[in-house]
Amino acid sequence: MGILEVKNVNKRFGGLQALGDVNLSVAENTVHAIIGPNGAGKSTLLNCLIGKLIPDTGSVLFDGESVLGRKPFEICQMGISRVFQTPEIFGELSVLENMMIPIFAKRDGAFRMQALSSTAGERDVLEQAEHMLESLNMADKRHMHSAAMSRGDKRRLEIGMCLSQNPRLLLLDEPTAGMARADTNNTIDLLKQIKDERDITIAIIEHDMHVVFSLAERITVLAQGSPLVEDTPEKIKGHPKVREAYLGE
Ligand code: ADP
Ligand code: MG
Repeated sequence: MGILEVKNVNKRFGGLQALGDVNLSVAENTVHAIIGPNGAGKSTLLNCLIGKLIPDTGSVLFDGESVLGRKPFEICQMGISRVFQTPEIFGELSVLENMMIPIFAKRDGAFRMQALSSTAGERDVLEQAEHMLESLNMADKRHMHSAAMSRGDKRRLEIGMCLSQNPRLLLLDEPTAGMARADTNNTIDLLKQIKDERDITIAIIEHDMHVVFSLAERITVLAQGSPLVEDTPEKIKGHPKVREAYLGE
């Protein structure tokens, strides 16, 4: 059994069947990519995994436990962290302050802005945040305004903010969308580094096939809300249905 088991998940938006009988099994400590054309249901599926949406029918098990009906923060506490399509950081805060937020949240169960101004008494949080920035190669940027960073660095920070919660499953929704090629390659390297350094499972929704084939060990192709095929990257590359549905051939 996989660390993540999605069984017969259906989700409708009014008359639109966004997900139809989705089955997906993600094996522990692998990188599993979910690809498919725009509107295939990829983000909807991800939102069903993190409690942002509740499927109409079906089940979602993480490490054997149902996530359905739990709130997003409870699912996060179970060990699932997610990175959205658009970076979600506090632009007006420094890189270091941003990194401290999830560490405070995890330690205290909540985060209050005042916590940031009392850093003298918060050495443990500060040290953890600095340590994480070092492992991300961002220590030299720690006093920078987050808004001033490149798209790639914002993404790097955001991924680090997720990692500081020690997830067992990291979910990424098009992490390289809108990035220049150099930032995309840096993100690929970062995800490889994370995979090498930790016991972590990564499920990545991605449009860029260069990213998919650089990272994924398994690939599920979604088309019109349902899995079309699931296989290794080598098999997926040559699959006629995939070329037709996804690559438009
Ligand atoms: P993808 O991420 O693969 O591009 P989405 O999961 O975002 O696809 O969307 C799947 C389908 O569901 C699309 O047709 C989209 O317009 C529709 N959809 C997504 N979210 C909503 C929503 N909140 N309300 C209505 N329709 C939605
Ligand atoms: Mg999407």
